[in-house]
Amino acid sequence: MSAFIPLSVPNFGAREAELAGEAITSGWVSTSGGKVTEFEASLARYLGVERAVACNAGSSALHLAAMAAGIGRGDEVIVPTLTFIAAVNPLTRYVGAEPVFIGCDDSLCIDPDGVDEFCRTRCEMRDGKLYNKATGAHVKALEVVHVFGNMADMARLTGIARRYGLVLIEDATEALGTRYTDGPFAGKYAGTIGDIGCYSFNGNKIITTGAGGAVVSNHPDWLEHAKHLSTQAKTDLLQFLHDEVGYNYRMTNVQACLGLAQLERLEGFIEHKKALYDHYVARLDGVQGLRILPFRTGDVRPNRWFFSLYLKDSGLDRDAVIEKLQARGIQTRPVWALIHEQADYPRNEAYRLDKAEDYRRHIVNLPCSTNLSLEDCERVCQAVLSL
Ligand SMILES: *Cc1c(COP(=O)(O)O)cnc(C)c1O
Repeated sequence: MSAFIPLSVPNFGAREAELAGEAITSGWVSTSGGKVTEFEASLARYLGVERAVACNAGSSALHLAAMAAGIGRGDEVIVPTLTFIAAVNPLTRYVGAEPVFIGCDDSLCIDPDGVDEFCRTRCEMRDGKLYNKATGAHVKALEVVHVFGNMADMARLTGIARRYGLVLIEDATEALGTRYTDGPFAGKYAGTIGDIGCYSFNGNKIITTGAGGAVVSNHPDWLEHAKHLSTQAKTDLLQFLHDEVGYNYRMTNVQACLGLAQLERLEGFIEHKKALYDHYVARLDGVQGLRILPFRTGDVRPNRWFFSLYLKDSGLDRDAVIEKLQARGIQTRPVWALIHEQADYPRNEAYRLDKAEDYRRHIVNLPCSTNLSLEDCERVCQAVLSL
């Protein structure tokens, strides 16, 4: 039994040390070396896509996706407000575009009814493009975030994107491994369904390379462009010629080694997440008004990255719970503050916020590391029940 139980930490073992050690001994520690290509190929194979482009963070992946999709100055992007800020900034302010915020449904992902209503009542189609009647701007894209590893309602969201001519961008940074098992998308992974999808391998995600990310796309030319932009848009190996403004967003060879080792363990991590989740449900769900929020299942196999304890009907106060658990050596956290209230985003439009505001107020995320033992998981349950 460990003294302190963290929320979500890396799970590294002998295999990660072995592969990263080989990279260090070989001297290939930076952005050259064959492991990045190998990692990209392994990830693509896992996801069942032709190609993946690795980069140095999920935020960079999203910035690359925005540029590859041609989102630029003056465009608007429909985004969720209940998410991490890195889902929004790279698709909007990094490229000079503006967000329109929409609340969530009970999966915590962007509400298809809200998106549809915004497009139908506040916009108009002209020459196959959607325009916001209030601002006159071209609404170019729709971003879906698969929150906490839950699959968003892709059947409806792809339909809406098609109807209104929107580029569909998937932030699957929290949802590597989440996939449809049935229905029209059977076999498809979160991130591979829309026009372009992004993953993160940050330290708190289901697999980690310390920091890292990747882009996949159903448009091979977009993906090629993303790769180009991630390598300073260099067109020539010797003369240092660059045909546009690029970035140094590359993954290193050492990170790729960690990624290769972690990918081998991903399915095992997902199984362990399910065991932890099932334990929380068995011990806490329905007890004195407590709820453990469900994941979309039936036609989906979720990765169950983050678990949400929902306090509304228990009479418990979110921040008091977090503080009391902290005093017992258990780290938890509230769900993100809504993005439309952050920095200078309050001037942007925001719709259908009821559920997002409710979940923001009443969710506490419980420890969910893939190296959390069932014994420590039980310790968390007992600490919650004692409140
Ligand atoms: C983690 C995360 C990101 C950003 O990934 P980084 O690798 O930390 O840059 C973006 N969006 C969401 C929803 C995330 O959870």
